[in-house]
Amino acid sequence: MEIQDYIAAGKIASTVRENARKKDHVGSTLSEICNSIEREIEQKGGKCAFPVNVSLNEIAAHYTAEPNDQKVVTESDLLKIDLGVQVNGYIADTAVTVCYDPNYDYLVQAAEAALREAISIIHVGTKSSDVGKIIENTTKQMGGIPIANLSGHSLERYTIHAGKSVPNIWSIGSFTFQATEAYACEPFVTTSDGSGFVREGKIRNIFSLATRKKTKDDYANRLLDFIWDKFNMLPFALRWLIPEWSEKDARSLLDKLIQYKVVRSYPILVEVNGQRVAQAEHTFIPQQNGVTVTTI
Ligand code: MN
Ligand code: MN
Repeated sequence: MEIQDYIAAGKIASTVRENARKKDHVGSTLSEICNSIEREIEQKGGKCAFPVNVSLNEIAAHYTAEPNDQKVVTESDLLKIDLGVQVNGYIADTAVTVCYDPNYDYLVQAAEAALREAISIIHVGTKSSDVGKIIENTTKQMGGIPIANLSGHSLERYTIHAGKSVPNIWSIGSFTFQATEAYACEPFVTTSDGSGFVREGKIRNIFSLATRKKTKDDYANRLLDFIWDKFNMLPFALRWLIPEWSEKDARSLLDKLIQYKVVRSYPILVEVNGQRVAQAEHTFIPQQNGVTVTTI
């Protein structure tokens, strides 16, 4: 594990996240927000570990801007900005929620408090079920409920979801945190009218390579090589294939690669009762008597 690369990625991610928190996004399109955050990551010497997620209101996660996405953030929106930075494949994954409707500020505060409380109990040997419990309790004390079927995760080089889940509710079965691994903790909080679960939506605009196996289609294989070369096995967006491919060609080739099961697509995740969802996220490495939060 290259701790220096995790730290370097985290430093860029936290600066970019704090700039995104301070900015007034009302009136901006989702394209403008994604493009400017991704440009800032690169200007600071990082690479994007995945397309910036800009999930509005009841969309909890996994929405990124389409090419020229003209959807505008309004004065009543709650926007989750989830960004990833990688340095030599070592990833910092972090998120902030900006909220322009004061009625929902408590959801943002609950997600932030749950994340803070969770991190305060983590060290080498902490049980993941205790983290789920403290996130659930903190969320409920603040008038929200946690999303049970979204969770944090262990990270590996070039792998965002490396197998272990860091739960947002108390749950049976757990692992203990190790100093040899990085993890992301990411409480998602909805209102008391929410179901506390997300379902898959129809939109799919985040993709990743599933395998490097070649197809029988030479033109599609050229896109395959391009994806591997640029993004490795990490997620990407259609807008990242342009201008090397025209939007039309990129869409049809991507559809082909999905049919061949060489590329997978990720659906947006939507709160089942249509309630708004807030999120906070940090990446950290456990230590003997505490934790190094790389994205602090
Ligand atoms: Mn994230
Ligand atoms: Mn994450």
